[in-house]
Amino acid sequence: MAYPEARRAYYIVAAMIIALILGGLIGYVGGKQVQDLKILGDVFLRVLRTIIPPLIFFTIGYATASFADLRRLGRLLVFVLIVFIVTSVLAASWGVLAGLFFKPGEGIGLKPPAGYTPPKPATWQDIVLSFFSLDFAELLSVAGSLKLIVFTLIFGLAVALLGDAGAPIRSFLEAGSKAFIKIVSLIMYYAPIAVFGYSAWLIGFYGPEIVKGYVKLVAASYTFTLFHFIVIYGLLVWLGGLNPLKYYKEQLEPFLVAFTTRSSAATLPVNMRAAERMGIPRDVYNMTLPIGATINMDGTALYQALSAVFIAQLFDIALGIDKLLLLVLAVLIGSIATAAIPGGGLIMLAFVLATIGLPLEGIAIILAIDPILDAIRTATNVSGDNASSVLVTRILYRGLRFSS
Ligand code: ASP
Repeated sequence: MAYPEARRAYYIVAAMIIALILGGLIGYVGGKQVQDLKILGDVFLRVLRTIIPPLIFFTIGYATASFADLRRLGRLLVFVLIVFIVTSVLAASWGVLAGLFFKPGEGIGLKPPAGYTPPKPATWQDIVLSFFSLDFAELLSVAGSLKLIVFTLIFGLAVALLGDAGAPIRSFLEAGSKAFIKIVSLIMYYAPIAVFGYSAWLIGFYGPEIVKGYVKLVAASYTFTLFHFIVIYGLLVWLGGLNPLKYYKEQLEPFLVAFTTRSSAATLPVNMRAAERMGIPRDVYNMTLPIGATINMDGTALYQALSAVFIAQLFDIALGIDKLLLLVLAVLIGSIATAAIPGGGLIMLAFVLATIGLPLEGIAIILAIDPILDAIRTATNVSGDNASSVLVTRILYRGLRFSS
């Protein structure tokens, strides 16, 4: 291993795996008594979340501002959006298949909790406006990530158009992005402790009993989501010229962070470290990863499609092929609009259900088990961003070869 930084990352991953197992065991034995350990993970999540807006601003700002050739910038954006959309549609289709194959909602008789009111589904207008901020202050929180990306692309474009006069701002953006990446490598030393806390809480709180009623749903979700991660992303990086084994190895660190924090936004900085180790050029991943973290959610797409089929089965509603096609389209939009935070996909599920005319009460039934499903979908969401970046790198830089 040539880089001490890379070697350190492997030690951290090894520590995280041990922490995941240890935490799970303690959660299993201690049950609800150990749920206070959650705070160990919450601290980590808070630090990560705090650096997200400046990180997005500096990295996308720098990447856009330093594209002297704006046609190349346009090509990068178009290619990455195409890859994002194709993989999300595939994931949504697996979700439908998983639902039809496992039939998780048939004859299990789960009931929504008393007094639960489902969230109000977003309208088409809400979704369009979610790209644009009402005012500057809205850009400063994780919830405003999509708006911040749109703003930063415009800002970076302006700096690029300034030419030489924009050089000081470009250097500032570059130094800023390095500083924030540095913060991440510092807080990663704490990551195993966070993983331990979250793992104990997840198993302790949602433990084996609750999973029982939902066995088929959890099995369907994990089987198909892991299939997407291993097979589709393996194929994507292979097409991109990177050895899939190297991809899995480097992706393990963000995978575990995403699995336990259940937030793509919070995992963004860790995903960037992995991209660097995979050999993806910085000007590509500075652009693709923040955008991907915000809009590219294959795990969420699969989950929303599967959940819709599950809810239809629970309420004995037949979904014809026309409804299933509409479902895939609704899920594509729903997953793009999902906030990259824990449980974000469940909120957008209301939009998906409303679009195809399914009862929103179904959300309450999934609510009980959502964190278990959120873990795997978030891990897949972030992994898809790096796999797509590898392929886009290949398309954009024909001559570039990834080392193995
Ligand atoms: N937690 C997911 C993420 O951050 C979003 C979701 O709930 O589907 O990627």
